[in-house]
Amino acid sequence: MTGRNSWLRRIVAWHGRLSLARKLTLIGVVTSIVSLVIAMTVVLAWDLSSARTRLVRDTGMLADVIGSNSTAAIVFSDGKAAAEIIRALSVNESIVSAVIWTKEGTQLARFDRSGKPSPDRVLPASAFEVEPDRQWCEFTDGVLVLARPIVLDNDVIGTVVIESDLSVLWAQAMASVLVAALVLIGTFGLSVVLASRMQRTISSPLLRLTSVTRAVTRDRVYNVRVESHSEGESEIAELINGFNKMLAEIHRRDAELVQHKEGLERTVEARTAELSAVNADLTIARDKAMEASRAKSEFLANMSHEIRTPMNGIIGMTELALGTPLTAEQRDYLQTVRTSAASLLQILNDILDFSKIESRRLRLESVAFVLADVVNEALRPLAVRADQKSLELLVDIDPAVPSALVGDPLRLRQILVNLVGNAIKFTERGHVLVAIRPDSDDDTGMLRFSVVDTGIGIAPEHHEAIFEAFSQADGSTTRKFGGTGLGLAISSTLVSMMHGRMWVESEPDEGSTFNFTARFGIGPEAQVLRDRRLPPGLRMLVVDDNPVNRRILVGQLTRWNVSPIVASGGAEALAMLGELAKKNERVDLIVLDAQMPGMDGFDLAREIRRRPDLASSTIMMLTSSGRYDDANLCRELGIVACLTKPVASFDLHAAICSVLESEPSVSTKTKPSEAQPTDAPKAKTRKVLLAEDNIVNQRVAIGLLGKRGHQVTVVTNGQEAVEAVAREQFDIVLMDLQMPVMGGIEATRAIRDRERELSLDRIRIVAMTAHAMSGDRERCIAAGMDGYLSKPTESRTLFAEVEGSPNDTPATSPFDEADLLKRMHGDTALAAEIVRLFTQECPGLLDAIRTALDRRDATAVRRAAHTLKGAAGTASASGIAEAAALLELLAVEGELEAMEGAWLRLSSETETLRVQPNFTRELTETPCEP
Ligand code: ADP
Repeated sequence: MTGRNSWLRRIVAWHGRLSLARKLTLIGVVTSIVSLVIAMTVVLAWDLSSARTRLVRDTGMLADVIGSNSTAAIVFSDGKAAAEIIRALSVNESIVSAVIWTKEGTQLARFDRSGKPSPDRVLPASAFEVEPDRQWCEFTDGVLVLARPIVLDNDVIGTVVIESDLSVLWAQAMASVLVAALVLIGTFGLSVVLASRMQRTISSPLLRLTSVTRAVTRDRVYNVRVESHSEGESEIAELINGFNKMLAEIHRRDAELVQHKEGLERTVEARTAELSAVNADLTIARDKAMEASRAKSEFLANMSHEIRTPMNGIIGMTELALGTPLTAEQRDYLQTVRTSAASLLQILNDILDFSKIESRRLRLESVAFVLADVVNEALRPLAVRADQKSLELLVDIDPAVPSALVGDPLRLRQILVNLVGNAIKFTERGHVLVAIRPDSDDDTGMLRFSVVDTGIGIAPEHHEAIFEAFSQADGSTTRKFGGTGLGLAISSTLVSMMHGRMWVESEPDEGSTFNFTARFGIGPEAQVLRDRRLPPGLRMLVVDDNPVNRRILVGQLTRWNVSPIVASGGAEALAMLGELAKKNERVDLIVLDAQMPGMDGFDLAREIRRRPDLASSTIMMLTSSGRYDDANLCRELGIVACLTKPVASFDLHAAICSVLESEPSVSTKTKPSEAQPTDAPKAKTRKVLLAEDNIVNQRVAIGLLGKRGHQVTVVTNGQEAVEAVAREQFDIVLMDLQMPVMGGIEATRAIRDRERELSLDRIRIVAMTAHAMSGDRERCIAAGMDGYLSKPTESRTLFAEVEGSPNDTPATSPFDEADLLKRMHGDTALAAEIVRLFTQECPGLLDAIRTALDRRDATAVRRAAHTLKGAAGTASASGIAEAAALLELLAVEGELEAMEGAWLRLSSETETLRVQPNFTRELTETPCEP
C-alpha cells in the first residue's frame, strides 16, 4: 500500500516538475496510447475467441462426416472399411489423431498423424453419452478434444473422437499481436508528433505570459505587454488581455505615484529648509536660554555676595551698637534691626538654595557627625522663640538610633530648623517634639524624624500643596505669620536627595506632625561611645511636670546606667527628698525643670536650700531659654549648671560629668546665648590676622574681635597675608576668599607650602566668605584651611572659631595617661615604653597616609589609617585613634575630598605628640573622660 502510494507520489512530483509543454504532450500521448491499447486488446480477444469457435465447428463437421460414412462399417464391424474412412482425415494438417469407438466401447479404427499410436486419452463417461446431433469438446494440453456420437436410425451406435492441434490457432494470434504492437509503435510516434505540435497553441501564449510575469516581478517594469496571437474569444486570449490591462493600470498608477513622490519630495525639501531655519533659531534660543540660566546662577551668586557684604555690615554694626550704652527705645530699635536682618538673610539663603535646587547644583556632603549635636545645634537658637511663646521644646531620640552618622549634617540641621521653626511659628500653646527613630528593623541606616506640634494644624486639602515652592496653606496666615513658602519645598527636596520622603499628618486645630525619612551611613562610634558612661550607683532625682520630657530624660539617663527617681512636681519632690533624708540616704544630683505649674524649678530650689537636711544638695536646672535672669538666679541659688532645653544628650552628659567632677565650685554653665553675645567673660587675647578687602567687613570684624580684647591685624589681599604670616606670629588667620592680587585659596596654599618647607608649626586658617555656592567648603579644606565661616558671620560663631582654636590652649598630651596606666596595671616604665614606640612609629604612618592621599590611592590610605588607628588605641591616644578611624571610614567609602578634611584633623591631633605624658603626676580615677 505504502509502496504504491510512494510510487504515485513520485510520479505526481515528477509530473509537477515538468514544463507546461511537456505536460501537454504527455497528456496527449498517454491518452491516445491507452485508448489504442484498450481497443486492440478487445479486438485480439474477440479474434481469438472466434478462431476457437471456428475450430470447434470445423472439427465437429469433420467428425460428423466420418461418423455418417462409417455407420455401415460399425454395423458390420468392418475395421478395414472404417480405417479407410478415417484415414481421409490426414488431409487436414491440424488433426493429430482420430478414433472410432463402437457402442460397446471398443476401438474400431484409429488414425495417428505421427504414425505410431498415441496412448489412449481417458475421456469422461459424459463424452460417450452425448445426445444424437450434439457433441462434447474440451481444450486441454494445447489440443482440442471433440467427441461426436455416430447415429443410425436415431440410435447411437458408436462415437468418433478427434484431437485437433491448436498451434495454428496460436500462430494466428501471435501474428495479430505483432501487427497490433507495430500499429501501437507507429501510433505512439505519430501521437507524440501531433501532441507536441498541438500543445503549442495552448502552451506558447501561457509561456509568453509567464515570462512577462517573471520580468515584471524581477525588474518591476510595467510597460511590457504579452503578445496575443490567438485572436477571438479563447480563454487564453481573455487571460492575456486581462493581464495586459492590469499591467497598464499598474503602470499608470506607478507613474502617478512617482509624480506624487516627486511632489512630496519637493514639499519635504521646502519644509526641511523651513525647519532648519527654525532649528537654527531654536539652537540660538537654547544657547541663549542656557546662557541666561548661567547668567542667572552667576547673578544669584554675585547678588548673594553683594547682599551678604552689606548685611554683614548691618548685622555686625547692630551687634556692636547693642553692646554700647543705649536707651531702652534705642535697644528695642536695634534689636528689631537685627531680627529683620536675620530674617532677610534667611530669605536670601532660601532663595539661593532654591535656585541651586532648580539648576541641580545642590550637592550633599558626606561626613561623619554626631546626631545629637546636630539636633542640638538646630534647636538651640529656636529655643528662645519657643520660650517666648511658653512652648515646651522636646527631643526624643530612640536608643536604637546610632549616635554617630555619616551624611550632610548642615543640610539635616537646615531641615530640622525649617520644620521646628514652622512648628513654633504655627503653635500658640502646648509643645513641639522632635522624635527620631529607626525607620525599619533592618540595618539600612534609614531614620525617621517626626516634628510634632500642638498648633493650628493644616486642612487635608493643603497637605500636598504646602510642599510646592512658594505655596502656603492659607494666604491669610501668611500675612499673620510671614514666610516665603520655600522652606518645605527645599526641605522635601533635600530629604529626597537623602533617599527619603517627607509627609504631613494634620487636621485643623489638632496640631501637625511633619515626618521625614532619610538614609545615613553609620559613623565611627568611638568618639561618642566614650562619653556614654556615668559612675555606677549614681543616685539622681528628676523633677519635671511634662511627661514627655520626663520620659526623654529618664531614657537618656537609663542609657548611661543610671536609674533616676522621678517626681512630677515640687511638692512630690520635696516629700521624696524628705523620706530619703530621714533614711540618711543622699541624692547625688537633682535635675529640675525651671517651668512647672504651681511651684516652679526656682521655687523648688529655693525651698531645698532653705531646708537644713537638703541644703547641700547638688542641683542642675533645665530652662527653656538661656535668659540672662535665669543664669543670675541659678548663680544666686547655688545651682551648679543651668542648661537650655532641649538639651542634647551629649551636653547633658558633659554637664553631669563636670558637675560630679568639680562640685560645688562649678560656675553656671550656660552657653552664651543670643541675648548676651558680648557680655560673656572675656577670653584670652588672641593675635588675629584678618585678610579682607572690604572695608565694612573689616570694621565689623575689628569691632567685634576688638571688643573681646583680641588684637587684629588687617591686610587687604592674599599676598599681604602670606607676607604677614612670614613676618609675624599669629594665633589664627581669618581669610576672605575673593581678594584682589591674590585670593584666599592661593594664599592658604602658599602659607601651607612654606610651613612644610621650613617645618614650621601649622597656623590655623579659617575661611570667611560670602560665597554660598556648593563646593566652596571642599575647595577651602582641600587648599589646607581648617575651618569655614560664611558671611555674615554670627558673632558667636566667630568668637568660637577664634577663641576655641586649638592654638589657644597649651598643648596637652594626646595620651590618656590614666587609661594607659590602668591598662598597664600601673607599670609606668611599660607605659612610657609604649608611648615612646608609638611616638616613633607615628610619623612614618602619617607620611604613608599623606603620600597615599597625594596619589589619591584610597586603599593605601585605608591600610595606613587602619594601622595608625590600632597603634593609637594601644597607646591610649584616643583623639588620634578617632581621627584615623574617620579617615579609614572615608577611605572605605572613597570620599577623597572629605579625606583631606579628616587629614587636617589627624594632623592637628598628632601635633600634640611632642607633649609627652607626665607619668609622675598623681593619677585620679575619673569615670568621665575629657
Ligand atoms: P513658609 O516660609 O511660608 O513657612 P514653608 O514651605 O515652610 O514656607 O511652609 C509652607 C506652609 O505650610 C506655611 O505657610 C503654612 O501654611 C504651612 N505649614 C508649615 N508648617 C506648619 C505647621 N507646623 N503648622 C501649620 N501649618 C504649617
